[in-house]
Amino acid sequence: MATAHDVSLQRVKLHNLGFPRIGNKRELKFALESFWKNDSTATELLATAGQIRSKNWTLQQSLDLVPVGDFSLYDQVLDMSFTLGNLPKRVAHLNDSELDNYFRIARGRSANDSPCQCIHAGEMTKWFDTNYHYIVPEVTTDTVFTLNSARILAQVAEAKTQGVKFKPVLIGPVTYLWLSKEKDSSNKLALLHKLLPVYQQLLTELAQAGAEWVQLDEPALVTELDQAWQEAVTQAYQALKFSPVKLLLATYFGTLGDNLTLTLNLPVAGIHFDAVRGKAELEQVVASLPSDKVLSLGVIDGRNIWKTDLNITLAYLQPIAAKLAERLWLAPSCSLLHVPVNLDNETKLDTDILSWLAFAEQKLIELTVLGKALNDGPNAVGRELADNLAAINSRHTSPRVHNPAVKAAVSNISAQLGKRQSSYSVRAAKQAKHLPLPLYPTTTIGSFPQTKEIRQARLAFKKHSISASEYEVKMKAEIEYAVREQEKLGLDVLVHGEAERNDMVEYFGEQLQGYAFSQFGWVQSYGSRCVKPPILFGDISRPQPMTVAWTKYAQSLTDKPMKGMLTGPVTILNWSFVRDDQSRRDSCLQLALAVRQEVQDLEAAGVNVIQIDEAALREGLPLRRAQWQSYLDWAVEAFRISANGVKDETQIHTHMCYSEFNDIIAAIAHMDADVITIETSRSDMELLDVFEQFAYPNQIGPGVYDIHSPNIPAAEQVTKLMQKAAERIPAQRLWVNPDCGLKTRQWHEVIPALQNMVDAAKALRAAA
Ligand code: GLN
Ligand code: ZN
Repeated sequence: MATAHDVSLQRVKLHNLGFPRIGNKRELKFALESFWKNDSTATELLATAGQIRSKNWTLQQSLDLVPVGDFSLYDQVLDMSFTLGNLPKRVAHLNDSELDNYFRIARGRSANDSPCQCIHAGEMTKWFDTNYHYIVPEVTTDTVFTLNSARILAQVAEAKTQGVKFKPVLIGPVTYLWLSKEKDSSNKLALLHKLLPVYQQLLTELAQAGAEWVQLDEPALVTELDQAWQEAVTQAYQALKFSPVKLLLATYFGTLGDNLTLTLNLPVAGIHFDAVRGKAELEQVVASLPSDKVLSLGVIDGRNIWKTDLNITLAYLQPIAAKLAERLWLAPSCSLLHVPVNLDNETKLDTDILSWLAFAEQKLIELTVLGKALNDGPNAVGRELADNLAAINSRHTSPRVHNPAVKAAVSNISAQLGKRQSSYSVRAAKQAKHLPLPLYPTTTIGSFPQTKEIRQARLAFKKHSISASEYEVKMKAEIEYAVREQEKLGLDVLVHGEAERNDMVEYFGEQLQGYAFSQFGWVQSYGSRCVKPPILFGDISRPQPMTVAWTKYAQSLTDKPMKGMLTGPVTILNWSFVRDDQSRRDSCLQLALAVRQEVQDLEAAGVNVIQIDEAALREGLPLRRAQWQSYLDWAVEAFRISANGVKDETQIHTHMCYSEFNDIIAAIAHMDADVITIETSRSDMELLDVFEQFAYPNQIGPGVYDIHSPNIPAAEQVTKLMQKAAERIPAQRLWVNPDCGLKTRQWHEVIPALQNMVDAAKALRAAA
């Protein structure tokens, strides 16, 4: 008798959209950096790259289709620009080697270039709402595209030699243009008709090379597209439908919304849909799928590090599998680029927490289990499903995760908690009395240079080769040095310099309950740069003060006001792997309560100025504008809860190191920090226009020192910038400060730069 799991009835296919390319222990990073320093040759670099690709395919070989072309030496969007022959003119004449030109666009120079030869690198931007950065393709009216298929064909040939069943992966034409930037007044959509023949030719060559399926990534489809862009999608796929390969159009990172019907009806052989972030639309997608199409469901979260609940996933997949049979494919939700490679490297994580996690390799195993369960029946993987259930249950019920007191505190949050005692103007008057400051007060953003000595001391402390008290002595010496230098410079509001902090999120995460840290959980951020996001796994509490002792010590050294430095709840959240068992909002409010306690403890310790950094507030904005407001509502509320438990006399600062406030100025104003410091030095103060137009009422410190550059700003330059600022914001509400923290600079750069800044402030006061 045929059962529901009759093999002849169901043959669900498994595939993957992309695998991390940095290697198990960041081999690619080290190979790249060694090549750039001329310590190794291009041949050696390419050999390492080949080994990583080969290893990745071996890891994926049990799948029905493995991705090819997902590997990149730097960035897959830059790869696509090369494939399409779309290089900026500034490298076009440098035709020595393609690899050199590739790194020139990626990072301004290649291995053998002398510093004076360097050209300006392509702009780098975040890939959708991830922390991965791509190199923005540049286009102009006269952009022409010419196929350069050598890279992708070579990788196909490698995969064939290795005997894997492969599926080339490309960025789709619409998303490619959508990500591009017009370098003149052209309209990039007008380039589509020039782009499509190149894709057609590429697809033909891939078919000749033996590809049956090609994956075209079109994540632009999860954003709000206007009519012209929607029409471009149809036009593009109408043009590609005669290709001699089957096209799998991949969307991910969200729901399709208004693009749903359009997408499902494109003339392609299959659609990949993100069933994790798009869960709400799943039913509709399955119901409306035309009968000639394959549906690939991304059922394993490619954006987070938690084990999938396989039993629940299986339960919702079974009826879909019964309906679609071999037209159902399964995959992770998106490329696994956004998660670390292998959990087996972790030897120090607590065993409970370890049992709740899955990195890229483990996610592929989950995928195979699901495939087996659907194809051969759940009994075929009874053991795996039972183990998974045990892990899921342990996480659901663990006292490490659930702290009733914290949950109660969040549900008891009243509107009162986010309110300050008085309005800004009342506070400002009290603060002016309590904290007398000159016109154009000067300050810095928090960190001073993280010198080699500081980093060595921290490492020695971590490795237990120096004791806690020895470490404390060293850090106190650094703090004292920073305080003395600031006094000599004549700065008005001092900072302790953040010597004791490795990273502005990790430092707090390490002291909060509910956070865990991996040893090798690296994720590519851009090129060879990787980040290791902390793991927010449980309800957040603060067992003890995190910064008070250092700040108090710093304050004890000087009569000048000492600014306490904290990272805000939204930024801590946005730079972590977060829980998937509660909303981001709830996690953020828990963090807000912990930061609030710290703020209140600092105030009680006599710290009158407290800065709460929200460097990552903007980057948390959802992909769809329609969802922006609800994010901003809770994000701003979280900030207000963290900041507003103080008396009127205590001055709250916040800091944001970016320069786009147009869309969020109302939210920024609602944060109601007494002082906001922002990045402006490169924008020539034009970004203050939006503050002026909005009639932003509180104080602003527009950055006048570009801390990303080794250049030292002259006093006249600072004065000019501040004069421009004063044309927009009354001088009584302006501060003078750098763009951001100084931790990546060196003292010999910082001192003259800050001296010029202070001198400029003095000149401005004298002229006022
Ligand atoms: N206080 C932090 C510092 O000065 C702020 C860093 C940031 O905004 N990225 O380093
Ligand atoms: Zn900053």
